[in-house]
Amino acid sequence: MTALLPQARALHSVADLVAEGLAPAGDAALLETVAQDFRVRVTPQMRDAARTSDAVARQFVPSTQELTISPADLADPIGDDAHAPVPGLTHRYPDRVILHVTKTCEVYCRFCFRRETVGETGHLPQAQLDAALDYIARTPAIWEVILTGGDPLVLSARRIADLLARLKAIPHVGVIRLHTRVPVVAPERVTDALIAALRQHPSVWVVIHTNHADELTGAARAALGRLADAGVPLLSQSVLLRGVNDTGEALEALFRALVRLRVKPYYLHHCDLARGAGHFRTTIATGQALMAALRGRLSGTCLPTYVLDLPGGFGKVPVGPDYLHHDGERWQVTDPNGKVHAYCDPDHS
Ligand SMILES: *Cc1c(COP(=O)(O)O)cnc(C)c1O
Ligand code: SF4
Repeated sequence: MTALLPQARALHSVADLVAEGLAPAGDAALLETVAQDFRVRVTPQMRDAARTSDAVARQFVPSTQELTISPADLADPIGDDAHAPVPGLTHRYPDRVILHVTKTCEVYCRFCFRRETVGETGHLPQAQLDAALDYIARTPAIWEVILTGGDPLVLSARRIADLLARLKAIPHVGVIRLHTRVPVVAPERVTDALIAALRQHPSVWVVIHTNHADELTGAARAALGRLADAGVPLLSQSVLLRGVNDTGEALEALFRALVRLRVKPYYLHHCDLARGAGHFRTTIATGQALMAALRGRLSGTCLPTYVLDLPGGFGKVPVGPDYLHHDGERWQVTDPNGKVHAYCDPDHS
């Protein structure tokens, strides 16, 4: 059967997914329940990638496993609300804030750590945006503003240009960072107008969220190339996801592909305690073993920091493998092949 939907339309419902052969018709009723709790959206790019890649499909196609809520699951797994001085702003670390400019995304990832708040509920209202910018302007410790959401690149190029121009007018804000999935999942949005908008501020970094090399379609690679050619520094964040990328081969392919695309892998996030996302979680020991296997095999440019965002809003901490321990007398250091070597600090007295 050929595709029933025109090329350019995103899939918005369980019925769309069933029509496209991406969800079994027999599960439709249960999946409707899932979709009522956290909505469905798959862009045409990701629909096409999902047809040939389970690793892509699992990220966007709802599963009946989402109905299993474990007692460990949390509504606000990383504590965004614990540090919100004004609506739409999270200020957890002194030198940087997160500005939630919209709750909308191009795709809804089934493991989303903000799944309780993201959805098609629109952009931050103008009055709240004004209040957030006012807070930033009167808080000189803020050096960096991180635009996130939802996905900030669902905003029009004009709105992004306006926002960056307003941030440029605040002298203590040196750096803007955008956390987005758009260049990968909706690469057609990376237009000349968007790139011109990003250039409104002299120091804009773009951090792309991507979890598997199969997401990096030809169009996505081209979009990342346009950003890199325009001089926009690119980093990536990935989430360690069971059944998606929890093998050494999958992570190696992803990180190597990113570096070839001039994207530096920044963070590998341990999967947060989002509600109904238990089937995506690995243990921290699994993540540590994967990172230990990659170290020594991959260029340092390819290796992100493996981090856990502590529930309750206490911040992110590196939780990668331990290479170092002190036996009371000397450091015992594990090399990339697992052999232990003693190391003594030279005498400083
Ligand atoms: C992750 C996060 C940041 C950014 O942290 P970096 O380690 O600088 O990438 C800032 N604020 C909050 C609330 C965060 O969760
Ligand atoms: S794009 Fe980001 S914010 Fe949006 S659903 Fe996916 S993980 Fe959540």
